[in-house]
Amino acid sequence: MYIPDFKYHSPETLEEALKVFGSNDSIAPIAGGTDLLVEIKQGVRHFENLVSLNNIPELKNISEDENYVYIGPCVTHSEIEESDIVRNNIPALAETVGFIGSHQIRNSGTIGGNVCTCASCADTAPILIAYEADVEVSSAAESKRLPIATFFLNHHQTMLSKGELLTNIIIPKPKPNTGVYFEKFGLRESASISVASVAVSIIVKDKKIIRTNIVVGACASTPKKCPSAMKVLVNADPRELVKGSKTLSDIANAALKDIFPIDDIRGSAQYRLDIVKTLIIKAVLNAFERSFSLNIVN
Ligand SMILES: Cc1cc2nc3c(=O)[nH]c(=O)nc-3n(C[C@H](O)[C@H](O)[C@H](O)COP(=O)(O)OP(=O)(O)OC[C@H]3O[C@@H](n4cnc5c(N)ncnc54)[C@H](O)[C@@H]3O)c2cc1C
Repeated sequence: MYIPDFKYHSPETLEEALKVFGSNDSIAPIAGGTDLLVEIKQGVRHFENLVSLNNIPELKNISEDENYVYIGPCVTHSEIEESDIVRNNIPALAETVGFIGSHQIRNSGTIGGNVCTCASCADTAPILIAYEADVEVSSAAESKRLPIATFFLNHHQTMLSKGELLTNIIIPKPKPNTGVYFEKFGLRESASISVASVAVSIIVKDKKIIRTNIVVGACASTPKKCPSAMKVLVNADPRELVKGSKTLSDIANAALKDIFPIDDIRGSAQYRLDIVKTLIIKAVLNAFERSFSLNIVN
């Protein structure tokens, strides 16, 4: 099937892009096109206008200040993987994007496209929630900043309103003794869509776990934080976070009460529960180990 005709806009400034984007109803932004062009080709979506965001330098930039790492939405997964700023400050994000698709997909696909497609199986969503990232959303009238955890409303539905673009992803630099880990399970060894994924962050201070996030992806329409499991983990004795311990099992079992997995072509709900249990145990162990072994720049 051919891609239907559309008018292609290629603005060079964000101001121009927002103006064009807000001026028409049948219009969509395009970054790498690895999701959007597939959907257009399949006839699932149709637009008379596409606005490329790829010639706008500020949307393609990775930068940092004392407290935050800033990633423009049009930064590709490969660029994130190779970025020293990302690898030195938020290494689990560099690892996560390394699991996305194939080399070709990672060279074209962007972090903003992954977040804005808002597929239930999107791999960057759980890890960005675990890192407590914010997003910047801009329209021609204003820019606002909000926690990424509030951005995902449903499968393929974000909180972006008409005329709004995702313009920045802002990730706090982890405090000392923070460990973060992402693990996904797919049906193939490589280039595999997640059947389930888990992102865990753990902050340790004075030999106590003082803060944690446990986020399950690809099991519901949006990523799901696991408050019961986080409560068990934050109250756990760190000495008990060892392979085979009852504490690890309690954390994983608590998480299973926090999620209500879907049945779909990639796996049944029960299959997902079994996988999530295994992924959580592995992710908690690794995040905990990293909390004292990684020399995180602060
Ligand atoms: C073979 C294959 C394998 C894949 N494997 C994986 C995988 O393992 N894990 C995974 O998570 N994904 C996977 N994907 C999905 C896809 O590659 C990613 O979601 C990718 O990051 C999308 O980025 P993009 O730049 O190509 O987005 P586009 O296709 O350009 O855009 C996606 C959507 O986001 C909107 N959009 C883009 N940028 C913005 C912005 N700044 N503001 C507002 N809206 C915006 C577009 O309008 C569109 O609706 C795979 C896709 C393919 C084809």
